[in-house]
Amino acid sequence: MAREIGHFIGGRNVGGGSGRTAPVYDPSTGEEAGRVALASEADVRSAVAAARDAFPDWAATTPLRRARILNRFLRILEERIDDLAAVITAEHGKTLSDAKGEIERGMEVVEFATAAPQLLKGEVTENVGTRIDSHSLRQPLGVVAGITPFNFPAMVPMWMFPVALACGNTFVLKPSERDPSASIVIAEWLKEAGVPDGVFNVVHGDKEAVDAILTDPDVQAVSFVGSTPIARYIYETAAKTGKRCQALGGAKNHMIVMPDADLDQAADALMGAAYGSAGERCMAVSVAVPVGEKTADALVAKLKPRVEALKVGPGTDPQSEMGPLVTKQHRDRVLSYIDSGVEAGAELVVDGRGLKLQGYDNGYYVGGTLFDRVTTDMKIYREEIFGPVLCVARAGDFETAAKWINEHEFGNGTAIFTRDGDAAREFAHRIQVGMVGINVPIPVPMAFHSFGGWKSSLFGDHHMHGPEGVRFYTRLKTITSRWPTGIRAGADFVMPTMR
Ligand code: NAD
Repeated sequence: MAREIGHFIGGRNVGGGSGRTAPVYDPSTGEEAGRVALASEADVRSAVAAARDAFPDWAATTPLRRARILNRFLRILEERIDDLAAVITAEHGKTLSDAKGEIERGMEVVEFATAAPQLLKGEVTENVGTRIDSHSLRQPLGVVAGITPFNFPAMVPMWMFPVALACGNTFVLKPSERDPSASIVIAEWLKEAGVPDGVFNVVHGDKEAVDAILTDPDVQAVSFVGSTPIARYIYETAAKTGKRCQALGGAKNHMIVMPDADLDQAADALMGAAYGSAGERCMAVSVAVPVGEKTADALVAKLKPRVEALKVGPGTDPQSEMGPLVTKQHRDRVLSYIDSGVEAGAELVVDGRGLKLQGYDNGYYVGGTLFDRVTTDMKIYREEIFGPVLCVARAGDFETAAKWINEHEFGNGTAIFTRDGDAAREFAHRIQVGMVGINVPIPVPMAFHSFGGWKSSLFGDHHMHGPEGVRFYTRLKTITSRWPTGIRAGADFVMPTMR
């Protein structure tokens, strides 16, 4: 019988009330591994109600106590990282070492959030006027929700809830229905660490669950990570219903390779950044932009054998450098992008179509694929493929390369490989992208900075986690006070000014 994956509401595992379920696959074999409950509006309502009821006590719990609970959760994650990685690999398909990597990046945010007492310190000014003082503080919002994508089933929720909980909010998570189990493990471990019932809840589901979150009057804020069309929809709907919202979308990250760059270093960097996690990363580099024909020829010559030698296999095989794609539907979409690149006239240097692995014939594999001479009008250049496909777009000079990046719809991450400090500085200064790497191909900010792109890669005012996360999950209150010796006699009818 297929394994049933239910919700986690009010501190308990509960089945779905809607009767609707969706299949969850093992992408390495193509077998159905379980069925996930799809929440109805009533299921979402019950999770939000549990979070609403838990809020007053959690908000009143001292930041230090909240931090200690998160510290215990951190220790559990450290001890059981292999168990959680296995759960991720089984449903997502990425290699075990990559799954551990995403958990570690998520743990950094938990670690950041354990500084809750420090992070929530306010500001004080003595004598804003004669014998008048002001202080400002940040208070939690209430029930906040997170809606997350399939590609990081542990890390992306951990960009959100550690900071939200540390600030005193309660949380409802709606993870991707394609790899739902990691979130249930996380919920159980949070409970074990001491998070009170109702403070962290998980509802699985699709659009119906998302819409129920967006229209629930008790949800104060929504954090979203996923594709751009859905991010835009979430942001617009949340705005209409008066909720605070940060909605991170898709990406098309370019890496410029300057003529003075170390081309072996650049080629190695591109391999990891383009093909790691089978390209299913929002910070994956999907466009390499060598500057000058000589650089381009040399770079493609270095990439070709590396791409051909990529070891593709099940995520549980320690030899695999790249696992399968997440679903058959997504694999077919990636294959159709490769077809479209060929039809549009790009030069297919390495073709990953038709890859078959013995013993895994029904797995969702696509081999590493490399296109050269991709131009900016092609669909494979304009759209996010989210698979192991690297496009080389040859630029005549630095100006052209930077212009392409600035004119692109997305602005998540970008990088430049160069030895020239002037070019690097100019690039960092001028480029219209939220996260920039200089000889760093995947410049994902650490937890104590904040993560987020520009343009169609982020809708909203706040990036995620770090200081921006604290601001997103709190409201500012400013208190101005004086005491009887500071109060002048008589009514004052003019605008208060400093005296
Ligand atoms: P997705 O947009 O399909 O799904 C994300 C979430 O939205 C899921 O929880 C899903 O259930 C929900 N959803 C899907 N369709 C919906 C609809 N019509 N209405 C309401 N909710 C809906 O994204 P995905 O395929 O799971 O993830 C891949 C995408 O996420 C890529 O575009 C990738 O670039 C992006 N991503 C971005 C970042 C970032 O930081 N900017 C990070 C990770 C992933």
